[in-house]
Amino acid sequence: MTMHLNTFAQPDAATPAQELVPSRYALRVGEIDVLVVSDGVLPLPTETMSTNATPEERAAWFKEMYLGPDMFDWALNVLVVRSGEQIILVDAGLGNQFPGFPRAGQFPKRLKDAGIELSSITDIVITHMHMDHIGGLLTDTVKNGLSPEVRIHVTATEVDFWKIPDFSLTEMPQPVPDVLRRTANEFMAHYESRLHIFEDEYQVAPGVVAKLTGGHTPGHCIVYVDSAGERLTFAGDALFPVAFDHPEWHNGFEHDPEESVHVRVRLLREAAASGELFVATHLSFPSVGRVAIDGDAFRWIAGFWDY
Ligand SMILES: [Zn+2]
Repeated sequence: MTMHLNTFAQPDAATPAQELVPSRYALRVGEIDVLVVSDGVLPLPTETMSTNATPEERAAWFKEMYLGPDMFDWALNVLVVRSGEQIILVDAGLGNQFPGFPRAGQFPKRLKDAGIELSSITDIVITHMHMDHIGGLLTDTVKNGLSPEVRIHVTATEVDFWKIPDFSLTEMPQPVPDVLRRTANEFMAHYESRLHIFEDEYQVAPGVVAKLTGGHTPGHCIVYVDSAGERLTFAGDALFPVAFDHPEWHNGFEHDPEESVHVRVRLLREAAASGELFVATHLSFPSVGRVAIDGDAFRWIAGFWDY
């Protein structure tokens, strides 16, 4: 595996002055270009990270990580994949339309800074229809910037789920459930005609496959990028930063917490066995690394930046 500059890393000379913080990370997986773009961060109460742990256990973890104790900034990683003639966006961040989250909604600007026009995106994969994954598609900039031909891939189970979503096993701060429902409805109202709905698995482009996992939401999917013997998994919300030390901890946003643990442990074991690259929405940017087994738990091995 080589992590060298790829075509995504060379915007044209007309690109305006850029931010002085790293907000995109380019790598190659075999013959496929991959770019992780940060949409910013989303601060949430630390309770949401571990709804089945005691306050003491939770506080101990955050203290050990030099974080907390009350609020935690969730990273918002968006993936862009170029395979052949297709440019595939995986999730779209939160958007900047929600008051109280001024540091999120950066992805359209950062995509432009990377030299990628919204109109050049051919496909979008939605891992699930939570607002921090689809909200970015609902800003005027993005609605107007996307090609009318863009194909939006989402699982049939996810679309069905949001018709009558079940929040009975979640533990979210108020008024999040209502905002999630409203945002999913708004997404369907605007994009329904462009949806390409799939059941279990769908090859979006050569070497780029979306696969249903369920758990976090019943229709949650992940994306595998596979090329020339190398593989990267974009795990969406199958796991969170606490998952390596405490894969059994429930997250307040999980609609089926028990099933989420099964999905998480299976994906972490697979990644540890294969040594593949691993990226997830809410791991610290750029969230490109590998997974190792560490006794009963796992260990995150961050990739070494080589530029
Ligand atoms: Zn999320």
